[in-house]
Amino acid sequence: MVIRHYDLIIIGGGVSGTALLYLTSHYSNIKSIALLEKYDQVAKVNSLARNNSQTLHCGDIETNYSLDKAKKVQKAANMIVHYANSHQSSQTLLYKMPKMVLAIGETEIEVIKNRAQEFSETFPYMKLLDKQAIDKIEPNVTRVNGSLREDDILAFGCESHGCAVNFAELSRSFLAESKRQVNNRIDVIFNTKVESIKKNQDLYHLKTNGKNYTCNAVVVNACGHSLLLAQKMGFGKNFSCLPVAGSFYLGPELLNGKVYRVQNNKLPFAAIHGDRDFTINNQTRFGPTALLLPMLERYQLSSVLDFLRVLHLDRKVIRTLWDIMKDKDIRNYIFRNFKYEIPLIRRRAFLKEVKKIVPSLKVADLKYARRFGGVRPQLIDKEACKLIMGEAKIDPGDGIIFNMTPSPGASSCMDNAENDMRIIAAYLNASINEDKLNQELAPNE
Ligand SMILES: Cc1cc2nc3c(=O)[nH]c(=O)nc-3n(C[C@H](O)[C@H](O)[C@H](O)COP(=O)(O)OP(=O)(O)OC[C@H]3O[C@@H](n4cnc5c(N)ncnc54)[C@H](O)[C@@H]3O)c2cc1C
Repeated sequence: MVIRHYDLIIIGGGVSGTALLYLTSHYSNIKSIALLEKYDQVAKVNSLARNNSQTLHCGDIETNYSLDKAKKVQKAANMIVHYANSHQSSQTLLYKMPKMVLAIGETEIEVIKNRAQEFSETFPYMKLLDKQAIDKIEPNVTRVNGSLREDDILAFGCESHGCAVNFAELSRSFLAESKRQVNNRIDVIFNTKVESIKKNQDLYHLKTNGKNYTCNAVVVNACGHSLLLAQKMGFGKNFSCLPVAGSFYLGPELLNGKVYRVQNNKLPFAAIHGDRDFTINNQTRFGPTALLLPMLERYQLSSVLDFLRVLHLDRKVIRTLWDIMKDKDIRNYIFRNFKYEIPLIRRRAFLKEVKKIVPSLKVADLKYARRFGGVRPQLIDKEACKLIMGEAKIDPGDGIIFNMTPSPGASSCMDNAENDMRIIAAYLNASINEDKLNQELAPNE
């Protein structure tokens, strides 16, 4: 059998894998790089536009972030902004629209007021918006039958900001730009599923459903499947995985931009929000829900087995799940979200939640969006018996890295890729063109 060799192999052609391909091909002198993807094109799983919320999370509306965390997230998101601004000519990557985080009732309003005070310097375009100011931007949030809604609301937001990204388009752009490089050998190999990775005499051997490959270094960007490949090699045994699928509902054209809600700090993802979907004309998308689903990839029944392989349901996992379910807020949240998936009752159940955003919405306005939404592989740290809130990385320090990327993994894809490029370049004794990197992806910072 023919074995092909590369300096670096990237597994997975979502926005994380293609971002790494772009960074390593543009800013490092790693000579030969291959990207292996099991499907026939990039971004068919979580990075597909209809499978995520299309939000560039930059720390201004995520009420669970501290200011420090928000500044880090802002820096990461800005890399995408810089990239999009210099590559948008042929396709739209970044969309400008209004955005806000909406507070309803006294407690939430207090949270937003305090946040505005603390965050305004870092996000100077964000303003506190009272009912009248919200009305000018999002009249369907403030009005019921033509009159202003009666409950107390306040928002922290702005009229226009580059806050929506087509992460699939971004993946395709990364790929096209990488292939244009002439200094390194770049191969993108589709329909190639990596089944196992083994290290033998300083080389990684990748067994796939097609040809086999060897390489000096590997980065696995296969979202939930990264953990499966890691554990097959004996890494990351301290993690288990709780896949949380997110579904969406479609409604008429009701919002001009993104309306988020104050987030429950105990949960790793944003509360249900409303978004203008730039891939579907004249419709508003509401969601995502949060449904515990025993599969690593949505709509792929075979990934149920993969989930069972990474679950490792032992005493520590059971204890963590028990601790999660013991919390009344989380328990209610899980049951509520379960209802949003049950035909016959789901639309009415979901309506209760979205009426907080658009009070005049009716059941007949809502349609369950079939085959929209992916899976967020939330990791459980078995040692700490805790759910990990965001992305996770396994880096054994041996030229191999595994990235697990629940939300907001797409927003941080370039920052994460930069970190991985640095680790891999050091391992391969390759160099990075720091001036070019700073100039192009972090100007003025
Ligand atoms: C409902 C929902 C809403 C979200 N909203 C947002 C949001 O608004 N903003 C945000 O920043 N993030 C959001 N996210 C998270 C975001 O979608 C992910 O972080 C991001 O898409 C992950 O990209 P990825 O490339 O790591 O994974 P993916 O896009 O899932 O790509 C992984 C790739 O690996 C391939 N693959 C898997 N196994 C193998 C194998 N063995 N061999 C070869 N190839 C393999 C897959 O085919 C796939 O192409 C959301 C996620 C969900 C589910």
